[in-house]
Amino acid sequence: MVISKTASQSDVSVHSTFASRYVRASLPRFKMPENSIPKEAAYQIINDELMLDGNPRLNLASFVTTWMEPECDKLIMAAINKNYVDMDEYPVTTELQNRCVNMIAHLFNAPLGDGEAAVGVGTVGSSEAIMLAGLAFKRKWQNKMKELGKPYDKPNIVTGANVQVCWEKFARYFEVELKEVKLRDGYYVMDPEKAVEMVDENTICVAAILGSTLNGEFEDVKRLNDLLLEKNKQTGWDTPIHVDAASGGFIAPFLYPELEWDFRLPLVKSINVSGHKYGLVYAGIGWIIWRNKQDLPDELVFHINYLGADQPTFTLNFSKGSSQVIAQYYQLIRLGQEGYKNVMENCQENAMVLKEGLEKTGKFNIISKDTGVPLVAFSLRDNSRHNEFEVSEMLRRFGWIVPAYTMPPDAQHVTVLRVVIREDFSRTLAERLVLDIDKVLHELDTLPAKVTAKLTGNDENAHNVALVKKTTREVQLEITAAWKKLVADRKRTNGVC
Ligand SMILES: *Cc1c(COP(=O)(O)O)cnc(C)c1O
Repeated sequence: MVISKTASQSDVSVHSTFASRYVRASLPRFKMPENSIPKEAAYQIINDELMLDGNPRLNLASFVTTWMEPECDKLIMAAINKNYVDMDEYPVTTELQNRCVNMIAHLFNAPLGDGEAAVGVGTVGSSEAIMLAGLAFKRKWQNKMKELGKPYDKPNIVTGANVQVCWEKFARYFEVELKEVKLRDGYYVMDPEKAVEMVDENTICVAAILGSTLNGEFEDVKRLNDLLLEKNKQTGWDTPIHVDAASGGFIAPFLYPELEWDFRLPLVKSINVSGHKYGLVYAGIGWIIWRNKQDLPDELVFHINYLGADQPTFTLNFSKGSSQVIAQYYQLIRLGQEGYKNVMENCQENAMVLKEGLEKTGKFNIISKDTGVPLVAFSLRDNSRHNEFEVSEMLRRFGWIVPAYTMPPDAQHVTVLRVVIREDFSRTLAERLVLDIDKVLHELDTLPAKVTAKLTGNDENAHNVALVKKTTREVQLEITAAWKKLVADRKRTNGVC
């Protein structure tokens, strides 16, 4: 949800060239118009204005699906008027969500007995899934502490500093302290040893990430599990693990079936995955799966009966669309294991094409790993004259949206560019992108080091910034301020999602 900031803009009218065939008066921008307009005019006005949005297919910043088959688009449109929560009225949709939960639970090796139903639920995305998982851990921990007659007002969660923002949201919204393991140069995921050291009696869970948002790397969940088992044995605690597999949950089972990261590890009690990332569905679907019934405290499940029969619900929102659930079911049965494997292998191969192309330029360090989410994260070998933000900005001219960002502490001096490889990013596009990046690099070579000069406020010393002694924090703040201004001036953002 973007918080609207545009109310003070002076131009208060929305004009549309073609729509003037239908309506002559312009529309107020921020107030509801008094009169109605013809439907054709409304369509035209909005359609014209939306042309200025970027092309989703060229948005290499996002993991979220931007292409599905036309047959699935048809199913989505047909279900657009079904409220998912009306389970009694739409029992088949409910059944499809249950099938998805079970298929995904099996994919993650949930220890289910014969005919035993999996425990999980469809959500709006991984963020909601993580809120639910976090709440379950918090409540279980509180109940245990109450039983032991111990204080239960200072819960904490241990994660790496590379966690996605939704974990910070969970921590702040639900009042749990976030204890972050710091990153370091050349190591951009949570170090399991340090994580386990940070665990104490108030730790409700350790959250590991399968596919770090920043460089796609898988954290070593097995090692974490082993170390934590040992610590639990010594202390008598039973600190569990959650795996945030938002992007990796649909990759690891197909590309690295031998990798143990899921319910095969005894301390892994819940896993989330974004259906709208490598689950290959448009934005609006995520999944949270629990290992067992016991891992989801009963008191968090609400029972309602006013829409029909008794229905258990455990979601943050009540109403939501059904289309994404149906679309997820479509993908699971349409592609099957074979199809998902093909898609993920293609993504991986295209990531390699891009990686090798970038390596050939000799100008970049590759920060992503060959094992992990198919993406390429890279930084300039030498960013003293021109930095990654400039590369990102200049690539926009070619239509590419490639975000640049700084790493979290203690690696904040590292800036990376990231290209996420999705199903619809073909090899041709990968090759094209390498060519365009090459053009940008050559162009930058001919330009003076203007941003650096601006940052130091000293043009003469532009080539000698290294001589200006500043703390990393100061440099970071200056860079952030300069780029915030630049971005604000252009009213564009470099979102990482
Ligand atoms: C994308 C992402 C999230 C948030 O997921 P949404 O589905 O966008 O809510 C959480 N964690 C990780 C690791 C992610 O990559």
